[in-house]
Order: sequence, then C-alpha cells, then structure tokens
Amino acid sequence: YRSYGLDRSNSMGVNLANDDQLRALAGQVNAAVTGDWRAAPLVPGATTTGAALPVTNPADRRETVGQWQPADSATVEKALANAVAAHDAWNATPAASRAAILEHAANLLEQRMPQYLALCTKEAGKTIPDGVAEVREAVDFLRYYGAQARVLFKPEALPGPTGESNTLQLSGRGVFVCISPWNFPLAIFLGQVSAALAAGNCVIAKPAEQTNLIGHAAVKLMHEAGVPEAVLQFLPGDGATVGAALTRDPRVAGVAFTGSTDTARAINRALAARDAAIGVLIAETGGQNALIADSSSLPEQVVKDAIASAFTSAGQRCSAARVLFVQDDIADKVTHMLAGAMAELKVGNPGLLSTDVGPVIDEDALGMLRDHAARMDKEATKIGEVAMDADAAHGSFFAPRAYTIGSLDVLHKEIFGPVLHVVRWKSGQLDGVIDAINATGYGLTLGIHSRIDETIEKIASRVKVGNCYVNRNQIGAVVGVQPFGGQNLSGTGPKAGGPHYLPRFTTEKTITINT
Ligand code: GLU
Repeated sequence: YRSYGLDRSNSMGVNLANDDQLRALAGQVNAAVTGDWRAAPLVPGATTTGAALPVTNPADRRETVGQWQPADSATVEKALANAVAAHDAWNATPAASRAAILEHAANLLEQRMPQYLALCTKEAGKTIPDGVAEVREAVDFLRYYGAQARVLFKPEALPGPTGESNTLQLSGRGVFVCISPWNFPLAIFLGQVSAALAAGNCVIAKPAEQTNLIGHAAVKLMHEAGVPEAVLQFLPGDGATVGAALTRDPRVAGVAFTGSTDTARAINRALAARDAAIGVLIAETGGQNALIADSSSLPEQVVKDAIASAFTSAGQRCSAARVLFVQDDIADKVTHMLAGAMAELKVGNPGLLSTDVGPVIDEDALGMLRDHAARMDKEATKIGEVAMDADAAHGSFFAPRAYTIGSLDVLHKEIFGPVLHVVRWKSGQLDGVIDAINATGYGLTLGIHSRIDETIEKIASRVKVGNCYVNRNQIGAVVGVQPFGGQNLSGTGPKAGGPHYLPRFTTEKTITINT
C-alpha cells in the first residue's frame, strides 16, 4: 500500500465496523425493500434481451429479490463491437484520469455501503460481517489499482548509450473479458474490472449467474463514477451464450476468470484455438486447502482458526480450510474442543447479527454438500455437526460438520462448503503429510500451527501454495497486504491485490530514439 502512496487498506480499518455501526447496518439491510431490483445487459445500442427471470433469496426462496434478463447473442455481438470501437480513446485517457474515476467509485461505494450490503445479503446469502468485508475489499481494489496505475503508467526512462533515449511505456491490451464468481460478487467482480480498466482496457463483465443484481449495481456505480458506458459493459447470461461466445472471439485480448479449474481449462483452450493474437488468461481457481497443526501448537488457537477458516462464509471461499492435519498427541483434545466450539455456532438468517453461518448459494450447491455428507457419514467418523437453527425447508441451509478421515484419498474433489476433514498424523510422518498435500495438485492456501521455527520453515518452504498463514486463520487476504492467488491447479497468477496483477493486463512498448 505504502509504495503507492496509500496509508492503509480500508479492510484493515479498525473502527469502521464497531458493534453499534454493525447493528445500524443490519437494520438498514433488513429494512431494504426487495422485489424490484433489476439486472439487464448494459450495452449501448443493444435492442434485444432475453425474458426476465426471478432472483430469489437463498435464505428464503419464497422471497423474490428482483429480476434479471440474460443477454442474447445479438447483444454479445454488439458489446464486442462497442468495446473495440471505444478502446483507443480509453487507452489514450491519461492513467491519472482513469485512476481518479476508480477512486471516485471507491468513495461512492463507501458512502452507499448499506445498499450494497443489502444486495450481498439478499442475493448472495452473505452474513452482515461478510458483506461488510466484501464492500471494503471492493473499495480496496478500486483504490489499490487506481494508485498503482498512477505509478506504473509513467513512462520509464531506461539507461542507454549517449545519443540514444530509451523508454518503456505500458498500454492496455484491448478488450478484456472479466468472468467473476458468486462467492465474492462485488469484491472479485470489481477487482478484476478495476485492474483491467486502470490498465487501459475496455471491459465486458460477465457476472456469475447467481449474482447478477450485484454485478449490475456495481457496473452502474462505475458508470456514475465516470467510466464511459462502452468502456465497461455488463453481460449477464449463461456460460454457453455469453462466456463461451466471448472467449472464442478473436477481438478479445484476454480473460480474467475466477471459478472452477475445469472452466479455466476450457477458457484457455478457447483462447488458444482462435486464429488471432494469443489471448491472455488470468485464472484463480479452486483449492484443497490444508491446515497442519503439530503437537507444539495451542489447541485453543488451532480450533478457533480452524473454525474461522472452514466455516466463515459457509465455507464458500476458495481459501477455506478443508483438511486439518493434526498431530496425534493433541488430536483428541483438538477434536473434543472442535465439537464443543461447533455446538456454539448458529446457522441462520444472514441478516441477523447472531448468525455465524448463512445459507449456501443455491440448491445445486446444497445437493452436492448433502451427497458428500451422506458419503462421509458412511466412510468417516463424524466429530461434530452444527445444530440447524434456520428455516431449512425454505432456504439452502447446510449445517457445518467435521469428520475424521484416514487420508486425503477419500476426498475426490474440492468440497465447496462448510465441511472440515481431520487427518491424524504421528511424529515422523510430517514429510508424508507435506507430500500428500502437494499430491492434490492444488496450491492455494495453507495454514500452519506450530511453535517450532524449524517445523514452520520446513512446511512453508516445501508445500507448494500461493498463500501460507502461520498461527492464524487462512482466509480473508487483504488487498495490497496479502496478495492472493495460487499455483498449479489453483490458478495461473499473478496474485489479485498484488503488485504484479495489473501489469498482466498491459502490453509493453520500448521506444528507442537516436537523438
Ligand atoms: N480472497 C479470499 C480470501 O482470502 C478468497 C477468494 C475466493 O474465494 O475466491 O478468503
């Protein structure tokens, strides 16, 4: 942050959400009038759209939150043509002016936090604290990439022989497609968009189908802040009509994507198959994240951090801990305390401050979690399950649970929800634990709990991950402070909220003049 002249990240502000402010925000969220929120393509000159579809609240499917209209093929085509036509002017706009627009958007977002919070709660099922963190992170991304663009886009004079001047200049690549996930419908959405815009690209933003209303509101805010309408367009719709059509189009210079590893592969193939310039892919995908606790660690802290890492946001974070490897000397104590701590958690309406765990995003997600739990009930030993204190008949609620398993082999894929798996290991087996984690092929986050420096150093250096957290929880990376993203099956890098992300959205030109 400091290297770009910013004091500190908004997410790290201490007094922004004291209890009174949280209570006031919760009141405003619950009073928010729903039913008439709308999302539709934002594409100048487009004349057609699909039929309106209802958006319902994941905590109570009887509540209609709003309507959305998917883009059709003609609208996708119009968006591409608009973006191509708008690029030169946006790319020629001074980086400082682009940055000022992003900073203006950050200010507007802060002023209107309750409105965006209400959308996050009603459309995405976020709890109030999760929603606050989401809005703050979006604000951070806008300010961070804005500040970075001011610094990066100053032409850099390079040393060279007398009689020659050499400069390196950055410029936008062209049209960028941003495809974002429902689990961070505002923060990751605006993170991708703001980096691409700051770098001088025109952007076509495709939100996740579960969170169109939030994406629409975010794009409207960016337009209000000063981004021209053809420079940032919004294309809600299904993967085949919108996502696939965009990624195979030769006019697209690159794609920023957060979602599943399989979809990232499909995008990569589509970009490579075009008879066009080689498209850039920035992908952040899944994880099978581990937390390793050795016998020197504090069981109370292990349990506290395991609960936060596994169950915050109903476990619907790529960064979430899925497997706790605990050394057997402290395993009984840890599992006993884990069961006790889980009994204190409340699953419920995300608009209530007493709720720890809100709903999962939709019935598909719920179905997958139920299938997994049914298998675990047979193949593993249950340590604990949170009591259901929610209207499970009408909302997509899944009670967090923890199981002891023999090894990672029983987990066939990433489990995207509040299920923690515990594996016991004995002294002398640490190398095997490290190998097993690396063998998953994923490499996103890792938690280490230990008070032995050599052990920490060994694990941190050998496990192939993007974000390693020691003696704390392993979620909630802060923009500019903990650049976020993984390696191998977990993504291509560069890390979001880090110094190398924005440059990936640019091309470089070296100009050599014989003076
Ligand atoms: N950046 C988030 C975190 O650190 C996770 C992002 C994701 O789930 O995609 O918790």
